[in-house]
Amino acid sequence: MPKIIDGNKIREKILSELKSKISKLKQKPGLAIVLVGDNPASQIYVNSKESKCKEMGAYCERYGLPKDVSEMDLLKLIDELNNNPKIHGILVQLPLPKHLDEKLVTNSILPGKDVDGFTPSSLGSLMSGSAIIAPATPRAIIYLIESVTKIEGKHAVVVGRSNIVGKPVAMMLLERNATVTICHSKTKGLENYTKQADILVVACGSPKMIKVDMVKKGAVVIDVGINRTAGNKIVGDVDFDSVKEVASCITPVPGGVGPMTIAMLMDNLLKAVELKK
Ligand code: NDP
Repeated sequence: MPKIIDGNKIREKILSELKSKISKLKQKPGLAIVLVGDNPASQIYVNSKESKCKEMGAYCERYGLPKDVSEMDLLKLIDELNNNPKIHGILVQLPLPKHLDEKLVTNSILPGKDVDGFTPSSLGSLMSGSAIIAPATPRAIIYLIESVTKIEGKHAVVVGRSNIVGKPVAMMLLERNATVTICHSKTKGLENYTKQADILVVACGSPKMIKVDMVKKGAVVIDVGINRTAGNKIVGDVDFDSVKEVASCITPVPGGVGPMTIAMLMDNLLKAVELKK
């Protein structure tokens, strides 16, 4: 069992399998990426999704809309994409400018084309144990955990309860028969919970917050955090150097969950193709 879970290595294996599947399809899977405005971080994410999509042999349409686009024009575009047979998956890069209602916009994507898995239908289906398409980062987390341990019967502690990471991953762990504890910013005595975890998933956006004395010996630790330090270094939510001494397996940042998310997004695109059949 690898102590350091190598997200890059696992991703390459998944992507090569997906590429081979795509090459056998009669119609190329089509992804539409919608980017509103010129947020530099969003542009980087969108560039990497677009180039990965093309590298995989899928079809990709990118829509760059001005930051003052009206909600009606954006909804009209999504409606066209919902009805476009060449497009199997629609991805609206978040965050959107303040004048746009993010919930309304994401809700307008057809559940079968919601490759991000963020619409209420997608999240509701996840809740009821029969996910249409589950969100990519929680899927990446589950994949990494299952690459090193069985989930059933374990005590999983999730730090963070966002709609895009904490809550869905907690549901997916529960679905796989873990006993799940969810912690958040109002949890008192966080270490009392984290120390009980056989599987510890941390997604709180707080650099190196989880220290070695908060982790049980032998725990599997998944660090979802991406934080930029003053020195422009990327660090996770877990103090990797000390925690790796007690964990049985741990994901590094960068190189753990991050690279896996795009692989799961591509897999979601293939799921959307299957749903259309
Ligand atoms: P959010 O800011 O939406 O949520 C953070 C969660 O952490 C909240 O539920 C918050 O609690 C909780 N939290 C904050 N501080 C503490 C604390 N001191 N103790 C316990 N809980 C705390 O973040 P996201 O879920 O979107 O992202 C989390 C991290 O994961 C970020 O670093 C982000 O960059 C990264 N990320 C990485 C991805 C990847 O692909 N690797 C994808 C998505 C996110 P409360 O609800 O009470 O406010």
